[in-house]
Amino acid sequence: MSANYNSTDLGAFHNVWVFCEQRGGVMTSTTFELISEGRRLADELGVELCGVLPGDGVDGLAKELGGYGADKVYVCNSPLLRYYTTDGYAKVLCDLVEAYKPEILLFGASNIGRDLAPRCAARLHTGLCADCTHLDVDLDGYAEFLRKEFRLDTDGMSFTSNLFDASANLKMTRPAFGGHLMATIVCPRFRPAMATVRPGVMKKRTYDAGKAASVEVVHPAFSLAAQDIQTEVLEVVKAAGKLVDLIGADVIVSVGRGISKDVEGGLKLAGELAEELGGVVGASRACVDAGWIGADHQVGQTGKTVRPKVYVALGISGAIQHRAGMQDSECIVAVNKNETAPIFEAADYGIVGDLFHIVPLMIESIRAAKAAK
Ligand code: FAD
Repeated sequence: MSANYNSTDLGAFHNVWVFCEQRGGVMTSTTFELISEGRRLADELGVELCGVLPGDGVDGLAKELGGYGADKVYVCNSPLLRYYTTDGYAKVLCDLVEAYKPEILLFGASNIGRDLAPRCAARLHTGLCADCTHLDVDLDGYAEFLRKEFRLDTDGMSFTSNLFDASANLKMTRPAFGGHLMATIVCPRFRPAMATVRPGVMKKRTYDAGKAASVEVVHPAFSLAAQDIQTEVLEVVKAAGKLVDLIGADVIVSVGRGISKDVEGGLKLAGELAEELGGVVGASRACVDAGWIGADHQVGQTGKTVRPKVYVALGISGAIQHRAGMQDSECIVAVNKNETAPIFEAADYGIVGDLFHIVPLMIESIRAAKAAK
């Protein structure tokens, strides 16, 4: 760390930064979610929102970031940044943080974000809250979040503390103790306050072409030599099978342990229903743990967080860890043979019955409706 950098000098830090993750020159959709959320935080603080974009020849992506709300993008081009390496990206990012001193630094909780953020936090001597599902600066907004999401009586709660100013710190909320409670964490004594945020939990803003055109692109001076990087990427090999895109899907038909009496038949029915609705198949962790379906299909706290237009839950009980990943879906349809299953508390439409009887009827009526058009 350079001599003139002091992570405890809180007053020296300004602006909200987002690490912008691109792969092969394509921005990840989580980055746009973070830029959108970062815009809200920057507006609450009255500061600038900046993206940091390492890569090789990636200037063209800066406008896209502007369209989702970035005021400024620091673009760092180098052949050494073409592929992600922990050493190379951490050096460039930490050098920039030391030079410009942002007060908040956000990463997507992707494989890269989960690798890079803790390395940077340790090097910058600051705190990191991993896997956040909600962020706030504004205290009234945070109280409203507690009222709305957890039905807490915030009028009777005190947010004052002798240890720190609750209204000035980033409040980072994440599930704790296996999802049985939510914890809000602050980083009151060090800057930047750093967080990784789960893909899919923050809403993407509407793209603004005017803002895209006016984004400021900065090419900061940085030094990076081959000796700074202890690994060499020889080849990038993509996974052989195509992974399911749950986060980008408009319709998800998920299966749970309720398919156990005929796993193959249950998966086939879910696949057919998903196909009729133009969607993809998701699953509860019980199905993934049983080896009935791949882990990329898992929805929930330790799987993907999704918010499709339609989420169909077939034979899923609705454990809190599953609901954490799908409860913000626009319309939830649940089929369960137990009328007291908790999934019905989250559902907009509930069907009590055996899925092996109900799903063929659903498929049949969708086909009939399509044919009648
Ligand atoms: P069950 O709870 O066994 O429910 C099966 C349901 O199917 C029942 O409600 C039953 O009435 C119904 N059913 C049975 N037969 C039929 C039929 N023929 N027709 C219709 N309905 C039928 N879970 C996740 O899903 N995602 C996660 O990310 C996740 N993360 C976790 C993290 C931690 C730290 C922990 C401790 C747990 C996590 N879990 C997660 C597991 C979670 O607690 C539940 O165990 C799991 O979601 C249960 O899956 P299920 O609903 O498929 O199975």
